[in-house]
Amino acid sequence: MSTSQATYFPETIAGVRAFLRTFPTQTLKLRYILGLDTAQNAPKLAQSIVVNCIDTEHYERDRSKLTEIGINAFTSGDLRQYIGNPGPHGENLLKQIYYYHFRMLPNAHCVNKDFCPGNPERNRFGHTRFATHAEGKAMLEECFYWDVTAGKPQDGKCPTVVIGHALHNDTDGLARTIGFEPQAAETVVAVLDTQQMAREMGIYNSRGPQHEIGLRNLSAHFDIPYRDPHTAGNDAAYTTISAIYMALYGRAKLTFPKSVLQVVNDVETSSRQYSINRHGIPRYCTRCHAKNHFVSDCHKYIPPCEKCQAQRKPNAKGELHGVFWFTKGKMAHYPENCLWGSK
Ligand SMILES: [Zn+2]
Ligand SMILES: [Zn+2]
Repeated sequence: MSTSQATYFPETIAGVRAFLRTFPTQTLKLRYILGLDTAQNAPKLAQSIVVNCIDTEHYERDRSKLTEIGINAFTSGDLRQYIGNPGPHGENLLKQIYYYHFRMLPNAHCVNKDFCPGNPERNRFGHTRFATHAEGKAMLEECFYWDVTAGKPQDGKCPTVVIGHALHNDTDGLARTIGFEPQAAETVVAVLDTQQMAREMGIYNSRGPQHEIGLRNLSAHFDIPYRDPHTAGNDAAYTTISAIYMALYGRAKLTFPKSVLQVVNDVETSSRQYSINRHGIPRYCTRCHAKNHFVSDCHKYIPPCEKCQAQRKPNAKGELHGVFWFTKGKMAHYPENCLWGSK
């Protein structure tokens, strides 16, 4: 009884979007994109899907300040060619992904140390670049508008899929700060969230299924080393790896002679070799704004911050103390970088 009901999908972005809507779950969409499942009625354009996994960080004392963007990018085709031989814990797939990390240059001095500590100097995947908001936007636009045929824009753009973990936090922030809303880009054909995928796979928060799973618990489920978290490049990578593991293995943990830790170590090393991005600059001092060294090597004298000095209060005798300790030496900063108001 074969009642062939092959629905026809046009070879357009909208056609690919309609095609992906026929998959009942997000995990099944990703399984198709990775080539784990096939569909006879897939539009040809679906083979050109680009996947972007996004994570962002904001300053903990002023959420209007975007501090970091992490983005992992891969094409469906690059990963499909290894789907018959994904390697231990998907190693061959994970090595096809580009891992990028950007610190927003105007806010790079705002480092989260208290409520949600994350050290952006401990990025483990690819290389950190410092970018202005305009450069960050240009970088994202490039990731979301690839030509199907390189150098032939008349052939149209690649359909794009966005992945994130609790993605609305990131996309709302990007829209507000740099004016680019990833899921609203015209090329986007599906938006996947690892919190939803985890629900589909029956992977729950240890406190019970009524709680959303965090990235730490999701990584732990698959033994993914959750090292140096809360910096956008690392969190994007843990999101991407978890998403690919859910597509490959569901909620199962497979055993290979090579451990997940060894695989992720090797992926980190290869990402530093191959994930090169031309946007932004490689070096920036958050203390003196020089572009030839990092803050750890900064020796420039910076006078005590006048904004901090203006906040001094006289003691009981009516005397004003000398300069505050946090306006001197390592803590010295220009008034335009003064975080006094946000303390
Ligand atoms: Zn410096
Ligand atoms: Zn100050």
